[in-house]
Amino acid sequence: MALNSGLGGQLSIDLGALARNWRALDKVSAGALTAAVVKADAYGTGIDMASKALHAAGARFFFTATPDEGMAVRAAVPDAHIFVLDGLYPGAANLYVRQNLMPVISSLAMLEEWLAKCVERNEAYPSAFHFDTGMNRLGFRLNEAVRVKERIEPLGYAPQMVMSHLACADQPSHEKNRTQFALFGSIVAQFPGVPASLANSAGLMTGRDYHFQMVRPGIALYGGRAVSGRKNPMAPVATLHVPVLQVTEARTGESVGYGAAYVLSRNSRLAILGYGYADGFLRSLSSTNRRPGGKVMIRGQLCPIVGRISMDLTIVDVTDLGDNLPSPGEGAEVLGPNVLLDDQADAGDTIGYELLTSLKGRYNRNYVGDGKLPS
Ligand SMILES: *Cc1c(COP(=O)(O)O)cnc(C)c1O
Repeated sequence: MALNSGLGGQLSIDLGALARNWRALDKVSAGALTAAVVKADAYGTGIDMASKALHAAGARFFFTATPDEGMAVRAAVPDAHIFVLDGLYPGAANLYVRQNLMPVISSLAMLEEWLAKCVERNEAYPSAFHFDTGMNRLGFRLNEAVRVKERIEPLGYAPQMVMSHLACADQPSHEKNRTQFALFGSIVAQFPGVPASLANSAGLMTGRDYHFQMVRPGIALYGGRAVSGRKNPMAPVATLHVPVLQVTEARTGESVGYGAAYVLSRNSRLAILGYGYADGFLRSLSSTNRRPGGKVMIRGQLCPIVGRISMDLTIVDVTDLGDNLPSPGEGAEVLGPNVLLDDQADAGDTIGYELLTSLKGRYNRNYVGDGKLPS
């Protein structure tokens, strides 16, 4: 652990909002189980605290990317059902068994290794099977279903779930959704009686047809926009304030920051924030005179980032605040209820997922609320 004075940026995670988001999605997917995807340190919010809050809200099924993340959830929530999306790492079956982690099996090699462990211990250890229906990412190819069935049927083994993943769910009218839906249907039909799962956050919001027996929301739990071009109904979870270090004046025609990439067109007041790309403030949020960048909120007003974001510092134009200037040490909101995750991500030509999972390093992370229902 780094020494921590409590000075510097404050990342506040609202566990009450996280819990409300889970319950809202659980209502939408009534009839299917609502899992919680907590990979990548619960999208940057902290896997330990997030998993506990989600469990208190009612979640019992968790998806991680890696076995290490699976172990983190196991420690936080002893009775969780945990799926590991990366599948079975070679040679790691004993660890999965010991930690009661379910690999999401995506290849015949993984399947062989898992079945060998089941046979060795004479125990049908649970797993899920992932079929690729059009991403060309992880998953069995569709034509491997026959082979998979030939391997498991003589052993009397069945997976807990068959699943697939949508490539374009954020665009509900994209024709690929229907293609993948149909292909997934053909897989489901080959595993009668086995629960099925297709939907991420966007799939969940797209419609009931996509729910099957379990939905797997991630980004929507953390307040991010799942479906493009629609109002985002989720509550923001992460709020980040970073300190103003100094306010300076600069004149028309002077340049700002590295590469002299931004030239001032008026006499300006600039606030220097103690926050940069090393903290996850992506350089794509930088601005030039031709291309606007991100904004932060200071004293109730949105102020534009000027010039290139550097490793530890960001320069913001506060001229329009007039005499209502921030004092050194005062916080600027970089993400939160006034600077929405997806607006900031749009300004940086990226997605809320990347911005949220990039937050790291030099903040004090504090948690407010919990997963419990208000009494
Ligand atoms: C990350 C992931 C999810 C969650 O996706 P969101 O878009 O964050 O809701 C669901 N399923 C799989 C396979 C994933 O990799």
